[in-house]
Amino acid sequence: NTPLHELDPDVAAAVDAELRRQQNTLEMIASENFAPVAVMEAQGSVLTNKYAEGYPGRRYYGGCEHVDVVEQIAIDRIKELFGAEHANVQPHSGAQANAAAMFALLKPGDTIMGLNLAHGGHLTHGMKINFSGKLYNVVAYHVDDSGIVDMAEVERLAKESKPKLIVAGWSAYPRQLDFAAFRRIADEVGAYLMVDMAHFAGLVAAGLHPNPVPHAHVVTTTTHKTLGGPRGGVILCTAELAKKINSAVFPGQQGGPLEHVIAAKAVSFKVAASEEFKERQRRTLEGSKIIAERLVQRDVTEAGVSVLSGGTDVHLVLVDLRNSELDGQQAEDRLHEVGITVNRNAIPNDPRPPMVTSGLRIGTPALATRGFQAEDFTEVADIIAETLKPSYDADALKARVTALAAKHPLYPGL
Ligand code: PLP
Repeated sequence: NTPLHELDPDVAAAVDAELRRQQNTLEMIASENFAPVAVMEAQGSVLTNKYAEGYPGRRYYGGCEHVDVVEQIAIDRIKELFGAEHANVQPHSGAQANAAAMFALLKPGDTIMGLNLAHGGHLTHGMKINFSGKLYNVVAYHVDDSGIVDMAEVERLAKESKPKLIVAGWSAYPRQLDFAAFRRIADEVGAYLMVDMAHFAGLVAAGLHPNPVPHAHVVTTTTHKTLGGPRGGVILCTAELAKKINSAVFPGQQGGPLEHVIAAKAVSFKVAASEEFKERQRRTLEGSKIIAERLVQRDVTEAGVSVLSGGTDVHLVLVDLRNSELDGQQAEDRLHEVGITVNRNAIPNDPRPPMVTSGLRIGTPALATRGFQAEDFTEVADIIAETLKPSYDADALKARVTALAAKHPLYPGL
């Protein structure tokens, strides 16, 4: 029972340093969040020791009576949360959830449609060197000049290419998708509709974003973004596809499920059904709207900073730096210097290479979890705006970041 600090001081020191970093800076990577202590407790439990290939009640190993309980709780809770007929909670990650869903519905060489990576799609939606781009024939759709997914193009490409699967979902897009329109197009060409709600699942759970489940054949998600749970993936589907999806996950893609992570997922689904969670998601949206509004104000615009699509309906804002003296890398570094963590992001028709980019993706879920209110997000927006101007006072801005972090302590007592 030797504790980590004694057994491995090197790893312990890095973990401690990461905790301090999370506590003392402002986390604004749109795909990140802070899991509750109870979620981390479940994830750090003895369930990590258990092999449980198979599904509750039908395992290939003995001694699964307790992990069966945990996995069934996770399944029941997420079905209830999103109104799904079937749930598979075993995917180790969002990418594996997507791989398994595609494995269930497609054969190599089939045609799929997904949102282009530089226009906000995810790697697993058909990027060239991802499994999805290597195994399938990819026809990508795009956003139009106003930054909105071009449904006329989706319809035209679907009719031309007759895909077997259309993926609706995104990693960097500030608006809501029209799931009903996607389903109508999918039905017209005989395609499956898969919605990847990894980014906005928390907003859906809170009733603040349309639910894709009634429209899609399959819905995939991660559990660690707006949903606020442990790192992992989930697949939801119709009862009709349940068997196909289950066998695509195990034995199709994975071996033993991570029951400690599944326990943590179950805890996070309980949290996601609470009033406190709804209130947190409401502040998440309020925060991103405040940031978008303040970044389109005149004094920042003069520094060449604008916001893609002119605003946001979700938990993130996409900053367009094409007219700024800063590229994405420089802007990310500058915000890092004052204690705000964001990621640079390619924007549609980006003139710069993917490692540099001309955009920033700024998200509010982690700060909302920390308890940030409207006035705090206003201060955050002003700090970001000041930092992106040609003349900025790094020390003064860093002091303002530190004050906000101190106002909303993270993991007090840890
Ligand atoms: N799907 C979307 C839309 C994502 O944004 C991401 C992660 O960024 C994933 C899937 C993949 O999730 P993971 O990193 O857990 O594999």
